[in-house]
Amino acid sequence: MRDISRQATIERLRQDPAPDVLVIGAGINGAAVFRDLALNGVRVVLADRGDIAEGASSALSRMVHGGLRYLETAELDLVREGATERNRLLRNAPHLVAPLRTIVPLYDRLGGTLAAIGRLFRRPSKSGRRGAVLVRIGLALYDWLGRHERTMPRHRMLGRQAALAAMPGLTPDITAAAEYWDGWVSHPERINLELVLDALAAAPQAEALTYMAADGPDAEGVVLRDALTGETLRLAPRIVVNAAGAWIDRVNAPLGINRRMIGGTKGSHLVIDHDGLREALGGAMLYFEAPDGRTCIVFPFLGQVLLGTTDIRVEDADVVRCEEAEVDYLLAVLREVLPAVAVGRENIRFRYSGVRPLPYVDSATPGMIPRTHRLVASEATAGRPFPVLSMVSGKWTTFRSFGEEAADEVLRRLGRARRTGTAGLPIGGGAGFPDDRAAWCAEVAGETGVPRPRIEALMARYGTRARDAARAIAAGPDAPLAALPDHSTAEIAWIARQEMVTRLADVILRRTLVALQGDAGEEAVREVAGVLAGALGWSAARRAEEEAATLALLRERHGAGYPLKATRPVSAIS
Ligand SMILES: Cc1cc2nc3c(=O)[nH]c(=O)nc-3n(C[C@H](O)[C@H](O)[C@H](O)COP(=O)(O)OP(=O)(O)OC[C@H]3O[C@@H](n4cnc5c(N)ncnc54)[C@H](O)[C@@H]3O)c2cc1C
Repeated sequence: MRDISRQATIERLRQDPAPDVLVIGAGINGAAVFRDLALNGVRVVLADRGDIAEGASSALSRMVHGGLRYLETAELDLVREGATERNRLLRNAPHLVAPLRTIVPLYDRLGGTLAAIGRLFRRPSKSGRRGAVLVRIGLALYDWLGRHERTMPRHRMLGRQAALAAMPGLTPDITAAAEYWDGWVSHPERINLELVLDALAAAPQAEALTYMAADGPDAEGVVLRDALTGETLRLAPRIVVNAAGAWIDRVNAPLGINRRMIGGTKGSHLVIDHDGLREALGGAMLYFEAPDGRTCIVFPFLGQVLLGTTDIRVEDADVVRCEEAEVDYLLAVLREVLPAVAVGRENIRFRYSGVRPLPYVDSATPGMIPRTHRLVASEATAGRPFPVLSMVSGKWTTFRSFGEEAADEVLRRLGRARRTGTAGLPIGGGAGFPDDRAAWCAEVAGETGVPRPRIEALMARYGTRARDAARAIAAGPDAPLAALPDHSTAEIAWIARQEMVTRLADVILRRTLVALQGDAGEEAVREVAGVLAGALGWSAARRAEEEAATLALLRERHGAGYPLKATRPVSAIS
């Protein structure tokens, strides 16, 4: 494969600075349109001011869903689209997306009906809890809207005893529950990355750059500023796609587009390490209403538990973090629904927060802001010789269809025909995913000499890309990390060299789940930095700078400082 390092990419773009399309923002929506255009032969450049998936696309609830609650605001097309994309993701990314059994606790039969009718007509209403009748109607509709390409069971209603048996920790106040199936994604940052890597591998005319911020226009095009060196790179695209999420308005303003498009709301999550809580969930997600009517989720997450979320209007997406009041709120709503489980701040391993890039509306109630995505075109002007297509809103789940919609519009404007589609296209390590995982792992173990339990652990992380990781490990030298014994030096070096790594935080926070799982203690951070320094040729000063920046980020944005687990059980590395 050609050299996709930043330096090589910048040099190529200096030689040839006139792509057809510049996509600004490498969150999930930017990556999706980038992949689609690249596979259709378009000369496209993707640029992010930070890392891939550094914005909302690493801050989600990790649900892959149609959005049951959007039925109440009659966003039926969005629900249908989300449920269909969920079904496709289960097939196209089986290494990271899986079915999720979900329980909705119910407290009466008819509750919430009037409030739901109010919401249907977009009248903000403080709801009582939704009763069994309303939820049953909603789930029947949800099943019907999600029937295309479906592989999961349909919903069923559970009586009180059956509900308490299904989820042993539920409050005895319930009268019944509903059970239905959705999807969840363990590592969305990795899917985001894989879309970019797949495009770069398949399309030699596509280029991607991280830590390169769109910094306004010049006479012919767009100025990109290198966040590491401050140097500029000028590109003259025929079309710009603005996929900057919560920052869309900020990217548009210097391009002379002053229409307000984004009205973001912040949401925060906690990762909790508590065996009692995990067991009380009985392997399912609890999708429940807080007493204030907000919908919250809690589900088992890679040996721990994920709890979310809040919904708070914010003006500046740069400064969000999970505040203490949000922690209080989330722990309180958890206590309401699972009263026998005593979870406290000492059980929190990690917190994260992000801004939903919702469309700007003048609504006082965040829950009432429409979730539907749309592409907003701003035509070329005398001072800006290219049109800008802004990708406003869009759930993570619908990235493929939104990317397709934006790509169709770009192809139309370029006068090109679509050559290929993405609906049935596997993503990254989902390609060639075997029915018989055990046989596949045995084969790769035989080929590389890496022990089979290790291959199984690699496959759980990287899908079929585990074969490449195993080859790198076999080529050695390799040793388990002392502070992260289920990761090894050759594995981290492979990530560093193959996965567009620029900074230490890229690996700690996004290429791996080390931080999310509460394992990013100081020793682990310094050890990973040592491996990256070797693989990427960092000086001692650069290494120290990266360590300090990552530790500060973990402390200030993610609540590190709460007790981190000493070590995880030594698993697959022998
Ligand atoms: C709390 C929360 C929970 C959610 N839960 C779910 C869920 O469970 N399921 C679901 O389907 N969806 C969920 N979502 C929605 C989903 O995460 C987002 O809608 C989606 O990730 C948006 O992707 P994006 O690519 O548009 O934006 P982002 O991921 O924010 O990407 C925008 C990118 O633009 C870059 N950028 C900004 N300025 C510049 C510049 N000047 N130059 C270059 N780049 C720039 C940023 O660095 C960023 O990487 C949730 C969102 C939040 C916040």
